[in-house]
Amino acid sequence: MSFIENNLRDVENRIERACIRSGRSRNDVTLIVVSKTKPVSMIEEVIGLGPRDFGENKPQELRDKYEVLPKDLRWHMIGNLQRNKVKYVVGRAVMIHSVNSEKLAEEIDKESEKHGLIMPCLVEVNMAHEETKQGIAPEEAAEFIRKISLLNNIRIEGLMTVAPYVADPELNRSCFRALRNLAVDIAAENIDNTNMRHLSMGMTGDFEVAIEEGATMIRVGTGILGERNYSI
Ligand SMILES: *Cc1c(COP(=O)(O)O)cnc(C)c1O
Repeated sequence: MSFIENNLRDVENRIERACIRSGRSRNDVTLIVVSKTKPVSMIEEVIGLGPRDFGENKPQELRDKYEVLPKDLRWHMIGNLQRNKVKYVVGRAVMIHSVNSEKLAEEIDKESEKHGLIMPCLVEVNMAHEETKQGIAPEEAAEFIRKISLLNNIRIEGLMTVAPYVADPELNRSCFRALRNLAVDIAAENIDNTNMRHLSMGMTGDFEVAIEEGATMIRVGTGILGERNYSI
């Protein structure tokens, strides 16, 4: 069995067990394989093993991979997105997980209108108020969503967070739980053009805890494809 196949089986088993522990259906959790920095050949190997959802954090890299790989893959934009690069993503990605400013939301809206589509988006929330991280402060999320919900060509479908890097995944449980509670509160407002169907949370180090706390999308890179080499 190859390195990737072995990793993927292990991750799949752990997803399944976390679903069972928390009384959830495996179908309610989408595994997004984070392929940033990794070559197309690796993605092709993953496709052969089943997954169809891939995450990228650089717009041009998403575009380039989209162009050469089968068109039935689902690409997720998970990284910070600059306004001038929105054009590479709209029309290719199925979801933008990292909406973190009004200006960005407006640009996605404008580009989506050009393409005649409505872009599914998640609002990125900086749950731990980390200065080094992007994202809307949790206490400002509802107001932010009320504003951007007025845009016609985006649809808010939930929240995303990048939890702190921790050695013990249990330390992120309260962060994941707080994101879910925030989504519940926002859902109760019944904001037009908005639903809180998705919680994108959990990475290689903590995806099982995230599933137990209600993640509908987990983003796993290293745990499947191995360490990234940023120097190449
Ligand atoms: C890189 C990245 C991931 C994947 O991280 P791993 O620890 O390799 O699983 C998930 N989410 C975001 C936003 C990322 O940038």
